[in-house]
Amino acid sequence: MLHRIGNAGGEVAETLRHCARESVDKVPLNVSDHLCCANSAIVEYYLTTGDIASAGDVLAAMYERKQKEGSYRYHSYNQNNGVTASLFYWLCGINSVNISGGEPMLHKNFMDIIREVYKRGMTVFTTITNGYFITQEILDELKDAGCNTEMRMSFDGIGTHDWIRNFNGAEKSLLKTIKLCVDNGFSVFINTQVHRRNVHTMMPTARLLNDMGVKIMRIIRTTEVPRWVHNASNANLSIEEYYESMLRFSEEYIKSDMTMNIAIWQYLSLNPKERNFSIFTVQCPDGTYHDNCYCCDATSQMFAVTSAGEVVTCVQGSGVFMKYGISLGNIHNTPLKDILNSSPYIDMAKMTVGNFRKNSTKCGKCKYFKFCCGGCRGLGMLLSKDASDVQHSLQNYFSHEDVTKCYFFENGWYQKITQALSDWNNLSKVSNL
Ligand code: SF4
Ligand code: SF4
Repeated sequence: MLHRIGNAGGEVAETLRHCARESVDKVPLNVSDHLCCANSAIVEYYLTTGDIASAGDVLAAMYERKQKEGSYRYHSYNQNNGVTASLFYWLCGINSVNISGGEPMLHKNFMDIIREVYKRGMTVFTTITNGYFITQEILDELKDAGCNTEMRMSFDGIGTHDWIRNFNGAEKSLLKTIKLCVDNGFSVFINTQVHRRNVHTMMPTARLLNDMGVKIMRIIRTTEVPRWVHNASNANLSIEEYYESMLRFSEEYIKSDMTMNIAIWQYLSLNPKERNFSIFTVQCPDGTYHDNCYCCDATSQMFAVTSAGEVVTCVQGSGVFMKYGISLGNIHNTPLKDILNSSPYIDMAKMTVGNFRKNSTKCGKCKYFKFCCGGCRGLGMLLSKDASDVQHSLQNYFSHEDVTKCYFFENGWYQKITQALSDWNNLSKVSNL
């Protein structure tokens, strides 16, 4: 770092050299030339903006930390992991961060990270946690940091949650945590896996969560990942069973007095307060298609960073990229600003439906394309027989149709939904199917 400062010219560099010298000279030689890249990035940023005082503060903080903790790295000492990237997001104009895991509250610097995010004027929009470590003290600390993050937790059905977690008492403990969060004014978002063993619990589970003040319940079809298949054998709902059971659930739900929003993964969302619904499968309702629409709205607005620092389009595809050793960009090697400016990652995140259409044999000729837009890219790749072709060219990520959406359109599910929910307003209207 000192070498890089040395290459900079003018008054700014001179002052910074002075600050650096003052702090770094106090650090033993064997580490003074080994400041981690994260600290360098911060100091360099201040150098480019001319904020000498802040650069000096960082260096002083590094020194202080070294004195107290034996190292002045901002990264956690055991894990050189991606979550610390949140400290730099604001340099790229990012205003909100979602924190997930594993279990993020196991990170020994969890509260430091939250505070640092808020100090930079960003927010932690969502924290994805199992809820096990949430206490009144933690919630008080979050509030002190100015953090009112949405708590996103998993609850996998009344009477079946303990089984799926293989942990007696998990259900009781989680329900207590949900209540604690709601009582403290944190909004709670619940993810619920659905499969053959718990599909019958969806309505009572929704009732329980609604009455507890949960804001959104998202129901997700359990997919055929190897460990689940090993433990639960044939418990997966087929796509047809999923569509059918979730339609029956939705029909019953809209007749109830519940006001909690429901999101059914890759299928439907219900908004009881407005009495309307959206069909996820219809990406472009009547009159909204344009060749320049992004293939995935979510990906175009939000990116994911794995614990190893890899930037990925979304969690659905990350396993495949990892399996084939494909890197779309890594924040430990390349500044995030540069990745967001030009990288394989940004080429994928900003891919338009017009370009996708040219690349995909089946979608290119499909009569539903202007509504479906080829579906979800993650599922398109995951459920394709040729997922491995992505290792030969990233373009292949954009060549597969999403078979769940083909099944939806080719088997009249749009019509079935609109008939069953006809009392509510359809925000995803399409004509001439
Ligand atoms: S690619 Fe699919 S799974 Fe990934 S964010 Fe987009 S819609 Fe969601
Ligand atoms: S995913 Fe299937 S339904 Fe959708 S555009 Fe492609 S071929 Fe058509």
